[in-house]
Amino acid sequence: MKEKKCSFCGRPEHETGGLISGISGFICIDCIEQAHFLLQDVCSDKNKKKKPLEKDDKIKIQKPTQIKEFLDQYVIGQEYAKKVLSVAVYNHYKRILQKNTDDGVEIEKSNIIMVGETGTGKTLLAKTIAKMLDVPFAIVDATVLTEAGYVGEDIESLLVRLLQDADYDVEKAEKGIVFIDEIDKIARKGDNPSITRDVSGEGVQQGLLKLLEGSIVNVPPQGGRKHPEQKMIAVDTKNILFICGGAFDGIDRCIAARLNTQIIGYSLNKKDNVIDKQNLLQYIIPDDIRKFGLIPEIVGRMPVLTYLNPLDKEALKQILTEPKNSIIKQYIKLFEFDNIKLEFTDDALDFIVNNAIQYKLGARGLRSICESIMLNAMYEFPSGRNSSLKVTKEFAEQNLDKSHILKFAI
Ligand code: ADP
Repeated sequence: MKEKKCSFCGRPEHETGGLISGISGFICIDCIEQAHFLLQDVCSDKNKKKKPLEKDDKIKIQKPTQIKEFLDQYVIGQEYAKKVLSVAVYNHYKRILQKNTDDGVEIEKSNIIMVGETGTGKTLLAKTIAKMLDVPFAIVDATVLTEAGYVGEDIESLLVRLLQDADYDVEKAEKGIVFIDEIDKIARKGDNPSITRDVSGEGVQQGLLKLLEGSIVNVPPQGGRKHPEQKMIAVDTKNILFICGGAFDGIDRCIAARLNTQIIGYSLNKKDNVIDKQNLLQYIIPDDIRKFGLIPEIVGRMPVLTYLNPLDKEALKQILTEPKNSIIKQYIKLFEFDNIKLEFTDDALDFIVNNAIQYKLGARGLRSICESIMLNAMYEFPSGRNSSLKVTKEFAEQNLDKSHILKFAI
């Protein structure tokens, strides 16, 4: 009978000191050992690559002015909010890198809350920061959160996305940033929360408080409750920076009421204390947010409060053309692919902005108005002979007339 051979090194059985047989081959002890070492090397390489952010690693720290400069490229106006965010993010970096010293001084995080009408750039600010950071970042919507046990998502799900963004590297995720949008939607519904169960209001706030304060949370790595068998991952939220955003519709009434009572006291000697009634948000203080329905503990855990200004005509026009990836620049690039030179006249831009304002679509509406205006051209030009297109007010008017967008706008 033919002597068996190792299918890997080819040596006959008598030279190897024994073979292990598989379905259609054999392997000798030496080859098993070699394979074992090889695998160890590969695994340790992998681990090295996934090494978490360490204190001594050279992270490129951007200074607050540099962070703001970066934001300026994408976000129009909102100077105050940009400044506040730049400082907060810079301090977050410092906290991550702080070395343990004996002086007992430990930099604590300062979670942030941004208040501003919808479509004024809160999410855009958060996304832009994510773009420049090299820490894990997640954007989540507070409206889907409910108290544990109810339909909706548990609070822990906030951290699932952060974990995913960190490639499940827990240490890295623990130094990340979470943007919670629509935080105002979990405000307490009434003054007496015990009348009806408030599963998406105060209960959620209590849950959120734990995360904001810093605690160790068991996170289901795949999220949701559909996989009860999955192993939980413990995440410490002590160093995670939370940025919350919300429109807080109606908060201006709280602010106005407070200012009125204050003015009565002050105005006797400070006649020049003029209040800009068009933009009351600029006077917001944490207590207004508490009155709106966020519990005092949550308000206390978000010590940095900033606001966004409503966008006027001028700002909307700038948004169309100025940011690094402005809507108009995107259309020009789209047409460039087909070697077509695209231009917008100034009155066409005014026309777009006026429609966004007239139909109360704000900055969010700019894109859909442009889409309607450009649809026919984007359909016909790539297969036509024209090498340029000038979008004038007349062109915009004609094409917007044909579209359905404005009929349903209000
Ligand atoms: P919010 O989160 O405040 O509701 P978004 O950040 O989602 O608003 O804004 C919606 C869109 O409007 C953004 O994608 C962006 O194109 C545009 N936009 C809003 N505000 C600004 C701004 N200040 N600068 C540039 N673009 C803006």
